[in-house]
Amino acid sequence: QPLVGNLIGEDHVNYVLMYNMLTGIRIAVSRCQAKIRRPLTEDDFAACHKYSFDIVGNELTPSAKYDFKFKDYAPWVFRELREDYFHVDPADYLLSLTAKYILSELGSPGKSGSFFYFSRDYRFIIKTIHHSEHKFLRNILKDYHAHVKNNPHTLISRFYGLHRVKLPRGRKIHFVIMNNLFPPHKDVHETYDLKGSTVGREYPEEKAAQNPRAVLKDLNWIKRGKRLELGPEKRALLTEQLRRDSELLKHLNVMDYSLLVGIHNMERGNRDNVRSSTLKVFSPDMPMIRRKPTQVKGPSSPEAIAMRRIMRESDPQRLGSATIKLPDEDTGERQHFLFYQDEGGLRATDEANSEMDTIYYLGVIDILTPYTSFKKVEHFWKGLKADRHKISPVPPAEYAERFFSFMKAIMRGGDGYARFKSE
Ligand code: ATP
Ligand code: CA
Ligand code: CA
Repeated sequence: QPLVGNLIGEDHVNYVLMYNMLTGIRIAVSRCQAKIRRPLTEDDFAACHKYSFDIVGNELTPSAKYDFKFKDYAPWVFRELREDYFHVDPADYLLSLTAKYILSELGSPGKSGSFFYFSRDYRFIIKTIHHSEHKFLRNILKDYHAHVKNNPHTLISRFYGLHRVKLPRGRKIHFVIMNNLFPPHKDVHETYDLKGSTVGREYPEEKAAQNPRAVLKDLNWIKRGKRLELGPEKRALLTEQLRRDSELLKHLNVMDYSLLVGIHNMERGNRDNVRSSTLKVFSPDMPMIRRKPTQVKGPSSPEAIAMRRIMRESDPQRLGSATIKLPDEDTGERQHFLFYQDEGGLRATDEANSEMDTIYYLGVIDILTPYTSFKKVEHFWKGLKADRHKISPVPPAEYAERFFSFMKAIMRGGDGYARFKSE
């Protein structure tokens, strides 16, 4: 399962869909962006802006190659999320997605049937979502927004936009735009999707040996004796943020989410360089791609300093209400707040908090599955065959508690997994 994807050319079955998605984003986002910023109102959360595109065009929408309808949901809310909390430059966002109509399709890696597309610089992911997930995101948008505002370092997926495309006489396709947790310029040598559930949560080891891009699961992690190597400082920070994040997920009544873990081994470096070479093959003329040199970035590199400055200069109120309690000896060391600041990830540390040669890329993904009656039924049936508490669909409070305990266990390693294993 490559995390690289196939470039969508004009002869691709999903070319029209991609064209329409990107055209809609380009027009809708730049329209909102052109207005003067104002504080959010209650109505902004429920807002939906409609656009109708056709080959002729009109005063609202320029002419497009195809006829289609486009909806932009809560544009002002997502604008604030992007600009104030996710620090995405508005011009960058539009350029990455729409300067050239290039996306690569990862296909449908999960069981859900959702499709994943990467922007051509691999910074953003477009995920098509089910109508029920779409409705759910609209319902929880206020809570999500509040959480992100109060938790600048949340590990939960960053949603940058929510949209819908409707083709003439065709299906309605809902999609979100979110962050790619993995860095565009680094090889990820191992990938895990961890839930804290152990029933059936294993990727066949013999297949994994042939496929370095396989997404491994909980049982692979346990059997390989893995551990998230984080010293006391980072462990405390990550634990506290994960605690807050799972509290939110419990409150939202969701389950089935996971912690995605990408592991980059700095000694191994980028020799495999799968992604970069693939990019070259696909499209030799991509001047916009900023491929950063892969030098090692210390805590006082220009990027790190700039990052800290941005954090300091942004809304002092937000920093004042910063949600992670720092260990005392760490006062002023804002870099430790940030789980994505070591070359886009979190550098492993030993028990003395010294840096090690591993970078982790972490995030909580797939958070839009409420515990509906469907899941309740699945819980019942799966529970007949296996331990009711170790299967993936359990009620949200239990799911969150088990998830959080497992995440604490992966930081400890050793024999901390006993309660998660099947007998
Ligand atoms: P299912 O519901 O069957 O689990 P899904 O279609 O909802 O699948 P996700 O669980 O969201 O899909 O993601 C599937 C895989 O895609 C993940 O295991 C991960 O490898 C990759 N992926 C998802 N989101 C991201 C992201 N933000 N950054 C990088 N990779 C991602
Ligand atoms: Ca999933
Ligand atoms: Ca899913």
